[in-house]
Amino acid sequence: PTPGEPLLQVQAVRKQFGGLVAVNDVSFEIRAGEIMGLIGPNGAGKSTTFNLITGVLALTSGQVTYRGEQVGGMPSRAIARRGVSRTFQHVKMIPDMTVLENVALGGYMRGEAGPVRAMLRLDREEERRLFAEAERQLARIGMADRMHELAGNLALGPQRLMEIARALCTDPALLLLDEPAAGLRHKEKQALGAVLRQLKSEGMSLLLVEHDMDFVMGLTDRIVVMEFGTKLMEGTPAEVQASPAVRAAYLGT
Ligand code: ADP
Ligand code: MG
Repeated sequence: PTPGEPLLQVQAVRKQFGGLVAVNDVSFEIRAGEIMGLIGPNGAGKSTTFNLITGVLALTSGQVTYRGEQVGGMPSRAIARRGVSRTFQHVKMIPDMTVLENVALGGYMRGEAGPVRAMLRLDREEERRLFAEAERQLARIGMADRMHELAGNLALGPQRLMEIARALCTDPALLLLDEPAAGLRHKEKQALGAVLRQLKSEGMSLLLVEHDMDFVMGLTDRIVVMEFGTKLMEGTPAEVQASPAVRAAYLGT
């Protein structure tokens, strides 16, 4: 993608769970080469928006367009194949497998099929290819020295990096991260921020869902703020920080 090119367009996207409107006609655009933030209080509809973009949830209405193609309603695997990859809010891993194995399997599953099924389907050639790719992506984010450790032995910070390596195995142009900094120590947040900046410098676009305002402010080019399922505002970090409406949403006043 050319820097600045509209990569992902979210148009009047809506999700209802019975009578609850979790996402209420939200629109925004992610451009190639930028880090976009999606913030808002708990329950604002951030994860649901994420799941609509990545095909994990079916749209009630609205459109999602990736590089000019309608992807809204496609299965998540089809969307991943086009270059959109994601991590989940809660780390998904097999604790008694190594970091490398977790990343290699994730690259195969693209977050969908069950791990056992995935393993049974592998032939040797494919397995070699997956492990080589997993190793490459772990090295890319500075985790090469930990790839033979058991995933369950990692602290939360490295676990989140492992998830990013896994998401990178499908060679995405757009990476979506759901609360990657949640629960991390200060140093781990800094390490994560450095990795995300590096990915941006390599030309990747990112959508970062975060509850942690400080983390998002230092990292993003633009921010969409959600509250009660709707888009409250969109702007640069400075504009968002200066907004009385955003302060009110966060402080609940
Ligand atoms: P956020 O990620 O911003 O904290 P969510 O997108 O997870 O918010 O949730 C938005 C709203 O939708 C919340 O009120 C939540 O309880 C509700 N919700 C989310 N997922 C479901 C679901 N699968 N079924 C019913 N309600 C849901
Ligand atoms: Mg969430």
